[in-house]
Amino acid sequence: MILAQSSPHAPFAYAMLTWYDKFGRKHLPWQQNKSLYGVWLSEVMLQQTQVATVIPYFERFVETFPHINALANAPLDAVLHLWTGLGYYARARNLHKAAQTIRDQHDGKFPTAFEQVRALTGIGQSTAGAILSSCLDAPYPILDGNVKRVLARYFAVSGWPGEKKVESQLWQYSGQVTPTEQVANFNQAMMDLGAMVCTRTKPKCTLCPLQRDCQANLQQSWQDYPGKKPKKTLPERESYFLILNAQGKIALEQRENNGIWGGLYCFPQFESKSALLAFLATQGIGYYQEWNTFRHTFSHFHLDIYPIYAQLDTPQQVSNRTDWKKVAEKTEQSESTVFSAVKYWYDPQNPEQIGLATPVKNLLTQFIRNYYGENRIL
Ligand code: SF4
Repeated sequence: MILAQSSPHAPFAYAMLTWYDKFGRKHLPWQQNKSLYGVWLSEVMLQQTQVATVIPYFERFVETFPHINALANAPLDAVLHLWTGLGYYARARNLHKAAQTIRDQHDGKFPTAFEQVRALTGIGQSTAGAILSSCLDAPYPILDGNVKRVLARYFAVSGWPGEKKVESQLWQYSGQVTPTEQVANFNQAMMDLGAMVCTRTKPKCTLCPLQRDCQANLQQSWQDYPGKKPKKTLPERESYFLILNAQGKIALEQRENNGIWGGLYCFPQFESKSALLAFLATQGIGYYQEWNTFRHTFSHFHLDIYPIYAQLDTPQQVSNRTDWKKVAEKTEQSESTVFSAVKYWYDPQNPEQIGLATPVKNLLTQFIRNYYGENRIL
């Protein structure tokens, strides 16, 4: 084993590599028949997401898009469809865009020069280092969430790693402890240690190969590291979703390609209940149902969702049911134009491959249960 011998931290790498041999993960799907493409996919999927969640998504992805050009040539809808449920959809859009760059500028082959990898959409310094070190043993340090936690504790680095100053300090330490050889195993060991031993709560210090020199262990102060993100209350927003049924098909709209749920399909949304009911009135729809409200939390705000269900051809018998309400402003003589105006009617019985935001997917499931299920309530 050749380590950065000049570094005073050589024993760190030695301890980690020895631990990895015995306890590290070696059977993850992207570790078998390793390719730059597969490792890139896994690294992007693993951002903000646990390994166990990622595995089935990864497997479906490589089966559907076995190589980079297959991904690049696929419609974005198909990519978002496979990503449905994994969250942080910008990752899928960036992956698709980067695949097209690789197809167009690198002949469909994942680049191996660090700066070229770093230049791809959605790939930061740590992801580029993780891909190249994992596949080529190239000596690049990494700094994902797990590594940040291990290093912050080991070196007792105070402050929240989201702050530039703290992050730079952690990068410096990561560079110092990373060996010049066996980098693939070392980086994997760091990620594994963070995920399996140096966990967010209750780290298993007695099983840790770094326990002897770890500052947080010596001071019994692991709770202090890494520093917490300064608390700020997330703003709250609300949205009224119209679940509009036309003979079993549901009106959906595709969102702009950027921002929240970019490129995904959602129900028509309204800022207020009155705006939604006014719309129903203009369409001559006389009754609606209110479904349970729920909250979906994004990283920077809470969204309170109020689902309102209506049918273009509301059955007459709903008028005497308490779970249906009357659209007060209904104009009897109004004529619906919505059927031709809606660009996309989703057929839940023959679903097309499109990307759906998780709350939309869940509400569609609820619709199927209500509309087609044995205990129909509509
Ligand atoms: S000794 Fe404990 S706190 Fe320190 S790196 Fe290991 S698990 Fe984390």
